Amino acid sequence: MGASKDKTYCRTLRRVITAIHSEESVRGKLGFVVRGVARSMDASASVLLLDSDRKKLIHNISWGLPQYYINKGVLDAEKSLGETLSAEAVVIEDASKDSRIQYPEMIKKVGICSILGMPIKIDGVVIGSLRVYQKTDCGFTNHDISFINAVANLASIIFSEDMLKQASEIDALENNGAITKKTALQQSREIKFVNASEEQFARILDFYDIEWVYEPRSFPLKWSDGHVSEMFTPDFYLPQLESYIELTTLKQSLVTDKNRKLRRLKELYPEIKIILLYKKDYERLLAKYGVGPLAQARCHDVTRVLYSAAEIGERVCEIAKKISKDYKGKRPILIGAQRGFICFMADLIRQISVPLDIDFMGISYYGEAKGPGVKITKDVDLSIRDRHVIMVEDIVDTGITLNYILKHLKTQNPASLAVCTLLDRRARRLVETPIEYTGFEVPDEFVVGYGLDYMEEYRNLPFIGIADVRKPSKNK
Ligand code: 5GP
Ligand code: MG
Repeated sequence: MGASKDKTYCRTLRRVITAIHSEESVRGKLGFVVRGVARSMDASASVLLLDSDRKKLIHNISWGLPQYYINKGVLDAEKSLGETLSAEAVVIEDASKDSRIQYPEMIKKVGICSILGMPIKIDGVVIGSLRVYQKTDCGFTNHDISFINAVANLASIIFSEDMLKQASEIDALENNGAITKKTALQQSREIKFVNASEEQFARILDFYDIEWVYEPRSFPLKWSDGHVSEMFTPDFYLPQLESYIELTTLKQSLVTDKNRKLRRLKELYPEIKIILLYKKDYERLLAKYGVGPLAQARCHDVTRVLYSAAEIGERVCEIAKKISKDYKGKRPILIGAQRGFICFMADLIRQISVPLDIDFMGISYYGEAKGPGVKITKDVDLSIRDRHVIMVEDIVDTGITLNYILKHLKTQNPASLAVCTLLDRRARRLVETPIEYTGFEVPDEFVVGYGLDYMEEYRNLPFIGIADVRKPSKNK
């Protein structure tokens, strides 16, 4: 028995090595890994990869696992066989009882008894995990463990070769300006989007460096005779935000059905955070980047004053007082990006009593940028290393831009990094970022004035007003 297992294991290792040299794609190579492991151990196998924040484990490829198990959700890297992150093999002898299992009901349903998780490492850093799931013949011998260790080492070779290849391709593409910024994770997924809006949305997320997973999980909503009779699969999962996003670009009649499903989902899974983007929300998001049907819209008028010049002045004064107190004995750098912050920053600094520096950044938006990926068109001139930075914003809407800027500033190691925004539109937030100082929370309407523009108009209004933005009417 031992000898024949030996032979099987050796044959599998040989096959994987051959595949590394003969198969073209990473997926093709990994296919040999999971299939080889599953067959030689009479089990199921999968490869999971850590996301860029090293917080979530995302399913990459598997053999012998039912789809509903794969779709069960994103795994918390700490909780999911936590020791995987510390570069050790993890054995779960009895999966039905182990507290490290995150989806115990799923384990029961599939009938898994033991799990082995082996870290996949590159240069000593864990990037993912190779997992074996047993249904019969539970438990693992030392022999099994060394075999899986060898296969995990081969998987590391597959990933490190791919990274090297990508790095040289990126170099080449960057030189001719055609770079496609994709993480190793995104490249190894083959995604077929259901419609063009989803693909466009994924491109926007990629552009702003926001991690996403497409249709990561199906939530059962109804059961009959012990079977699931209705499910709901949100379009995206954003691990950084720990929320699901559903895009509806459908007709109103179909939206009603979707709303019903979403209500049911919230009842059944109250811990799940899901954001629904209606067609109008989505078109407004696109319009901000100069694309989509609303990009042609016109601002007819400024219909209402939201905050008068006096109200703004008072609030700015209050914020400046708070900043002066919080930064007593320090010399903060206030940074603004793009143009909308201009009035706010000018008024703010004149009310702050501590000494300070100012600096400016420029970034390209999705839609106006030449290649994919946000470009910093102008970085800060001052060194912010070990300095106290306050990012000054006109308005935080989805939070996508701010999130990107903060990530960029953090790489320059400031002593602290705070955000001060005049306006905050919480209702439309997609990416959560902490905001230390807020002027006003604004309603879900487009605002202009006091530095904020609509297509470069209205910046010079002394107050903040609501703009009546409409598509050009057809009969005119
Ligand atoms: P976010 O990335 O948070 O969605 O967008 C932030 C940027 O979008 C702001 O800095 C601002 O330039 C623009 N923006 C968002 N909402 C409005 C608005 O209501 N009025 C104006 N003028 N600009 C807005
Ligand atoms: Mg801005």
